[in-house]
Amino acid sequence: MATTDAMLRAEIIAVTHALDAAGLVPNKSGNVSCRSSGGFVITPAGVPYRGLTPADLVELAVDGSPPASGPRASSEWRMHAAIYAARPDAAAIVHTHSPRATALACAGRGIPAFHYMIALAGGEVRCMPYATFGTAELAVTAVQGLAGRRATLLGNHGVIAIGSSLRDAHAVALEVENLATEYLAMLAAGLEPRLLDDAELQRVIRKFADYGRLER
Ligand SMILES: [Zn+2]
Repeated sequence: MATTDAMLRAEIIAVTHALDAAGLVPNKSGNVSCRSSGGFVITPAGVPYRGLTPADLVELAVDGSPPASGPRASSEWRMHAAIYAARPDAAAIVHTHSPRATALACAGRGIPAFHYMIALAGGEVRCMPYATFGTAELAVTAVQGLAGRRATLLGNHGVIAIGSSLRDAHAVALEVENLATEYLAMLAAGLEPRLLDDAELQRVIRKFADYGRLER
């Protein structure tokens, strides 16, 4: 294992621990991956995050082909492989079942552009139709939802966030949950969000790029 891949595995473990501690991947849900020298490294199927070690992570070829032996990759490996194939800008993927964003996903509601921080996701976060977990259909749906975006809601399922680094993808996933919290608060109060227009969103995206908040 190259040093960089060892560092990458340690980084994946740190992100999964942070997501788990924040309650964003309840009951062993969700998965995290990052491009590597041999393809991509992804969290394994069915191992509790708390005890996860670098050796538990699985490196798959770019097309998702598994290694001959060792731990089994997350059941969502097809979705990760399809996103890496479709999005050269994605260096890492964070998939969560974060509760508030998932609540919206279960109601078929995307997150409109009511707060400038949605620029981290590239604009309005779509909610895609339901597809069974682990299927090629879900992989296609996720790629469609991410078109021109860094995040999408998977209907009746959860959240996918991508980034130009693991840190970036993690930040987008956290922001989607923040925005969902704010959106649900508005809905609960019977308030109509006042939306930002595209010109303003583009302006914020440019400012984020200048600040280095979005790695481009
Ligand atoms: Zn899931």
